[in-house]
Amino acid sequence: MRALTVHPGVPGSARIEEIAEPHASAGSVLVKVLAVGVCGTDREIIEGSYGAAPAGEERLVLGHESLGRVLEAPPGAELAAGDLVVGIVRRPDPVPCACCAIGEWDMCRNGRYTERGIKALHGYCAERVRIEPEFVVSLPPHLDRIGVLVEPTSVVAKAWEQIERIGRRAAWFPRSVLVIGAGPIGLLAALLGVQRGLSVHVLDRVTSGPKPQLVRDLGATYHAGAVNEACPGVDIILECTGVGQLVFDAMRSTSPGGIVCLTGISSGQRLLEANIAALNRSLVLENDVVFGTVNANRRHYEEAVGALARADSAWLERLITRRAPLERWREAIDRGPEDVKTVIDLSPPPSPAPLSR
Ligand code: BGC
Repeated sequence: MRALTVHPGVPGSARIEEIAEPHASAGSVLVKVLAVGVCGTDREIIEGSYGAAPAGEERLVLGHESLGRVLEAPPGAELAAGDLVVGIVRRPDPVPCACCAIGEWDMCRNGRYTERGIKALHGYCAERVRIEPEFVVSLPPHLDRIGVLVEPTSVVAKAWEQIERIGRRAAWFPRSVLVIGAGPIGLLAALLGVQRGLSVHVLDRVTSGPKPQLVRDLGATYHAGAVNEACPGVDIILECTGVGQLVFDAMRSTSPGGIVCLTGISSGQRLLEANIAALNRSLVLENDVVFGTVNANRRHYEEAVGALARADSAWLERLITRRAPLERWREAIDRGPEDVKTVIDLSPPPSPAPLSR
């Protein structure tokens, strides 16, 4: 069967390969992969700056944002052939740490977790994969066009959960949120903000393309200017770009008691001159919180499925701006200025209808 693989650390080494069928030891649920979403992490792995192959192997099967259909499930697994499913990305560390021990591998304390398609475990960008039942999440059948958005939505479901937990440290009645970055994570974070009844503002640098309208169609307000002008006095900022200057501006732009949630993984290559002492002063005097969040556990995937099921599916479909078949995977990796989410499509084209005589 075919898979998209890469030699981590070697730029430009990604290619389609024939690989063996997944081994039974990888999990008792056999899944036919329908689609795999592409994100910045995949691009970094392909550029050779992130990712690790499984121990003793040179190449890694890519893909962590999955959507598939169950081909075989073990008896008693609450899954049946034909079910629409998503595979969870992270696996707990082997120690395990206190968090991994209770299924909160997204909060792993010792860094020894593994991640499918990213860190030491083969990913989902193959025609068939095997997954352990406890790492399979079921989707209602009507999410078959957009179920590939469950993984990025799980990341923002976790971000919102953490924001709300932090908010409860004091009397807290948030009204507004500013999301920085109108990529998939930013737009999905905005969707979850709207679903919470908040006044949602989204800031990005583009003024054309689909993003401004996607934001407006959500009932949110689009901004293309400076962070501190977008929504003065905002209660929550969700930073989804990882761009150093925007991160700094976000930390300076909340109201007293504000929460800044960082979700963007920066490349870490740009130096920024900043007055950290002044920043410290305002964070302290205002009881502000700045925190980072990554990954998601099973609870967040289930919340993500619920959030997507409640959302307008036509709006969600517009987030997927391009789909490329597996053999043309490069088209999904190359992101155009108008792209939001690009997807590698592994479902074979529908067979032509029989000719009527
Ligand atoms: C994935 C996360 C993962 C993170 C770091 C992100 O792209 O969505 O699941 O934990 O990369 O590897």
